[in-house]
Order: sequence, then structure tokens, then C-alpha cells
Amino acid sequence: MSNQLRYDGQVAVITGAGNGLGKVYALFFASRGAKVVVNDLGGSMSGSCRSLLYHFANYVTGDGASNRAADLVVEEIKKAGGEAVADYNSVSDNGAGIIKTAVEKFGRVDILINNAGILRDTSFVKMTEKDWDAVYSVHVKGTFLVTKAAWDVMRKQSYGRIINVTSTAGLYGNFGQANYSMAKLGLLGLAKTLALEGEGKGILVNTIAPLAASRLTETALPAEILNFLKPEAVIPLVGYLCHSSCSENGQVYEVGAGWFAKLRWQRSEGLLLDPKKGLTPEDVRDQWNKVEDWNRVSYPVSASDSFAEIMKAKL
Ligand code: NAD
Repeated sequence: MSNQLRYDGQVAVITGAGNGLGKVYALFFASRGAKVVVNDLGGSMSGSCRSLLYHFANYVTGDGASNRAADLVVEEIKKAGGEAVADYNSVSDNGAGIIKTAVEKFGRVDILINNAGILRDTSFVKMTEKDWDAVYSVHVKGTFLVTKAAWDVMRKQSYGRIINVTSTAGLYGNFGQANYSMAKLGLLGLAKTLALEGEGKGILVNTIAPLAASRLTETALPAEILNFLKPEAVIPLVGYLCHSSCSENGQVYEVGAGWFAKLRWQRSEGLLLDPKKGLTPEDVRDQWNKVEDWNRVSYPVSASDSFAEIMKAKL
């Protein structure tokens, strides 16, 4: 197929690629010519169903490390004629080690997918500091450590494609997932700033919120729904965003089961009061309809779009 998007000569690093979505990304990039670093500490799934209302009804610990998960994916890639290496570092313990593996084995890093993840679901009233720190550590600190190491390599190459993985729990909130929501929205903020800082060096950073059957969901959803939510259905978006021909940057998408959508902020025109006349809670209360008037809206894309509106009060 002549117009097939390919990644020949490129190196893709995928964290948490021993299972679920990460595994299908790894198989995909290898099948399209990339050399792949399959990172996974091989965490086992254990624990009880504690998430409320949410499809991720399981409690994934990331414990019980074994190298098998990453090894199996590498074996599968090699059997299909592709090139891959396993890496067993935890993103949060030695994120830089994952990039070191890529550079030592393949010499560069073109694509990074910050996919590794765990859950510690429980209502906020029951959430412990340990639950909070564990989720922060893998998602936020882990993404920081791996990306920081990849950043230097990508800047030297003047090329890179990075995907952060958020969740609808982060974008919209979700009962029982305060820690996960915090971490996942943090990854979007990180990606938006990296998109600004990386653009001049050819590094583009986007964020996806996938929905797919994985070991997280397999005991929580009926088979007919799981069959519908194939992880492979997320690949087309990830594949496109990670291709050199794609110029999307700093954006966020929802994706699953063949549906691909882009999100943006929408802001009401708002209520503008004169600070010189004194501002009271009553002023805001009495004109609340203007604060939330969705008939006149704008779509801010930068911090300066906010600054510009606020400075109108100065006029
Ligand atoms: P999964 O459990 O099947 O895969 C996650 C992988 O990450 C596992 O193989 C695990 O061993 C690995 N991992 C955990 N901690 C790690 C660490 N410290 N270092 C390296 N690897 C580690 O889950 P999945 O559903 O494929 O999720 C992949 C990503 O997508 C996660 O970030 C998750 O939060 C996100 N996500 C998934 C869905 C979905 O519907 N499946 C929805 C929203 C977001």
C-alpha cells in the first residue's frame, strides 16, 4: 500500500507495553517498520473491585513484577519479523533507564508513548496517602522521568512525537478516582506545556483519552461490550499522531471502538465588572446569567487568551 503510514528507521518507546493498549501499540509500530522498546515491569493484577460506576472496576497494583509480559511481546514482534527489545524498568523508579535502553540498543528515540498506568480506586473518604502517592508516582512522576530523558534525545535529533495518556476520569472526573483523575489531568497539563516548549525543536506532544478492553476491564464488562472495545481500535489515532506527516500539537482526543474526537475548551463571554467601582459577591450573584451565558462563547487556546479577557477590565 503506497500511502501507508510507516515508521521505518524510527525508534518507538512504549511504557507499560506488556499488556493491554501498550501491547497493541508496540505490535503496531513494529509491524510498520519501527524498532520498539517494550517497557513493562510485568505487574500483576490483584485486589478487589473497588471502583464505583466506572468501567475500571478492578484494582491494579502493578506488583508481582516478572519480565514475562514484556518478553512475550518482544517474542511476538520478532516472530512477525520486527525488531524490539524488552525493558523491565519501572517508569517511576528508573524512567531514564528506559530511554537508556532505547539509545544503547537503537541509537535514538522518535516516538514515546507514556502509557504505563495503575489504579488505586476508592472513594475520597477512604483514600489513603499511599493510594494517592502510588497513582501519582506511576502516572505523573513516571511520565516526567521518561519524558525528561527522552526530551534531551529528541531535542538533539530535532524530532520527536510524544503521546500522554489521560482518561475521561481526568477530563470529567469520576466517582472513586480522585487520585487517578488528578494524575490523568496533570498529564494533559504537562503535554500542553511540552507542546509549546518542544515545537521549535520538532517535538510534538498530544494527549489521548482511550477507552478499550484491557485486563483492567475484562472482568468488569460483559463479553459483548469488551468485543466491541478492541484496543486495536485506538491504534489509528495513535499511529497518525506519531507520524512525521502529522502536525497536530498540544491537542487532546477521546478515542475508542472506531470513534475519534478532538476536545477544546469553550468559555462564556463572561461578566465584566468595573474594579474601580468595587466588586462584591452580590454583583456576581445578580448577573450570574452572564457568567454562564453559553450563547456567546469563545474557544481559548492559550494562557494569553485568558490574560487578554482579564485585561479588558483595565480599559
Ligand atoms: P493495562 O493494565 O492492561 O496495562 C498497563 C501496563 O502498565 C501493565 O502491563 C503494567 O504492568 C504496566 N505498568 C504499571 N506500572 C508500571 C510501571 N511503574 N512501569 C512500567 N510499567 C508499568 O492497562 P490499559 O487499560 O492498557 O491502560 C494503558 C493506559 O491507558 C493507562 O495509562 C491507563 O490509565 C490508560 N487508560 C486506559 C483506558 C482503558 O479503557 N483501557 C481508559 C483510559 C485510560
